[in-house]
Amino acid sequence: MKEKVIEDIVKEVLAKMNQTKDVTVDGSIPIAVSARHIHLQQEHVEILFGKDYELTKRHDLSQLGQFAANETLMIAGPKGSIERVRILGPVRPVSQVEVSLTDAFTLGINPPLRESGNIVGSSAITLIGPAGTVHLDEGLIVAQAHIHMNPQEAEMLHVSDGQFVQVEVKSERPITMNRVKVRVSKRYTLEMHIDTDEANTGFITQGTIGNIVYPEEVLLDRRQERSLITVSNPIENITVYEKKLLSKDDVEAIQENIIQINKRTIVTALAYDCAREQNKTIKIV
Ligand SMILES: [Zn+2]
Repeated sequence: MKEKVIEDIVKEVLAKMNQTKDVTVDGSIPIAVSARHIHLQQEHVEILFGKDYELTKRHDLSQLGQFAANETLMIAGPKGSIERVRILGPVRPVSQVEVSLTDAFTLGINPPLRESGNIVGSSAITLIGPAGTVHLDEGLIVAQAHIHMNPQEAEMLHVSDGQFVQVEVKSERPITMNRVKVRVSKRYTLEMHIDTDEANTGFITQGTIGNIVYPEEVLLDRRQERSLITVSNPIENITVYEKKLLSKDDVEAIQENIIQINKRTIVTALAYDCAREQNKTIKIV
């Protein structure tokens, strides 16, 4: 029984370690390139594919519960159409189509740059499926670049939900993206999502690493944090005291936890008491 408990604890610890394995204090973020895609509400699935039709899974996506469906649709605008646009599941409350600006030119539409889900007043688009057609009066957007992460990752990366950050990519054609939105949720896996135009600009492929560029004050904060860690490390926290007498006042004045003295130094009784009170060690060498 005991072995089982230990095994469970080890598993839990390993899971925690894996959760944060991609997070380093330098702010490196794996990038995923989102191709044009469609999110559908169930009513539209049934108009496009037939009554009671349900989307079928092709493969899971990195974000929990999200999947690429086997089903695709044609999308059409006033100037042109694009075939075989992938549907992503599961179904959502409102249908939405995300394209790159290059796609939008093909369609002859000028969609707004939006966060996924924010489609009020966005562009119209027509969806054509094997069983029917749906015209959306609004729902076509160019997706705002964003980074998904869980709360622990946000803490380690010194960012918070809704914040905009700058991300630098040191690729063959290096770019820095501004106004990348941070999105924090327990369900999220650390990953930055950009569209194909952004990816092409920076010669970015699936899994390329980007780095959050921190403003100077954040870097300064971090350096201070690091120096605090060093101070609290007892191994490096020694002062070498070489005077003939170590008094209570001297012990109080010394910041370090270990006061190293030599055999010739005289230590007063009050100095010893004070050291004990303040959790300092007087070490004779
Ligand atoms: Zn995303």
